[in-house]
Amino acid sequence: MHQKLNYIFLLFFVSYIFTADKNICNHCNQLILNQWIVFEENDYHNNCYENHIAPKCSLCLEILTGEYLLDAWGNPFHKIHEADGIYCSSCSRIISEGVTQGGYKLDDGRFLCSLCQSNIVQSTSQINISKLKVLTLLQKIGIEGINKEINITLANRITLQKLAHKISSSQLKGFTKFSYIKSPFGNLASEYKIYILDRLPTIEFEAVLAHEYLHVWLYENNIELSPAEREGFCNLASSYIYEQNGSTFSHIHLDSMDADTHPNYGDGFREMKSNLEKNGWKTLLHSLRQ
Ligand SMILES: [Zn+2]
Ligand SMILES: [Zn+2]
Ligand SMILES: [Zn+2]
Ligand SMILES: [Zn+2]
Repeated sequence: MHQKLNYIFLLFFVSYIFTADKNICNHCNQLILNQWIVFEENDYHNNCYENHIAPKCSLCLEILTGEYLLDAWGNPFHKIHEADGIYCSSCSRIISEGVTQGGYKLDDGRFLCSLCQSNIVQSTSQINISKLKVLTLLQKIGIEGINKEINITLANRITLQKLAHKISSSQLKGFTKFSYIKSPFGNLASEYKIYILDRLPTIEFEAVLAHEYLHVWLYENNIELSPAEREGFCNLASSYIYEQNGSTFSHIHLDSMDADTHPNYGDGFREMKSNLEKNGWKTLLHSLRQ
């Protein structure tokens, strides 16, 4: 599972200053005697506007005028901060005191905001709770027979990239290692190991895990697909988890999956998604098994 986030939207905002008729301030409801500001079709005293209404930069807290940028959550900031703005690697919020109560630089170079940090998956008991939740949700769409004893290991980005050397990418958030082991009776059994990026917020951890479980399901059913079909199919499970969750965090991840330009994780995903929307899970799984 790989993923790239960080959306920035451009927005233009204008305020006019008039010196004409008497008017009522839309903030304090008092008469305006000389100058006022019109913002989004409402009139304000200069002071009322500056202190209560004007959109302020999330980073320097100064009033925004002209062109400014928004992070994926709609937090506005001056264009001048664009180059040195730091985004949370999980939620894409711009990290600042005002928006995220600060954040952390992790040992593998990632940045994590304090909001995400407060619900990251770290302990074995957290892994187990998420694992059962994901397996139950996957069962509902017909993904069955996944051994719940499959080992799940957390690793930082550097370790994960080393372990996954072939499919290594800085955006890699999980992968599944598959190997055959010889049983004492001489026949071959398959063994899986799932590695997931450490310090992911719970819902993101679950979306990545669901993706990896679909890789296991493909192996177990001896289904061979092209890389685009395979990653696209596995991404369906992540989007399913995010859809079930329905939070803003999840919608931002869903939007980013829809906009991903990667040939496998993006194009492959959209191909599989339209297949799923046309045919439903049951028919899709059935067609893959043939
Ligand atoms: Zn994958
Ligand atoms: Zn006023
Ligand atoms: Zn600013
Ligand atoms: Zn965050």
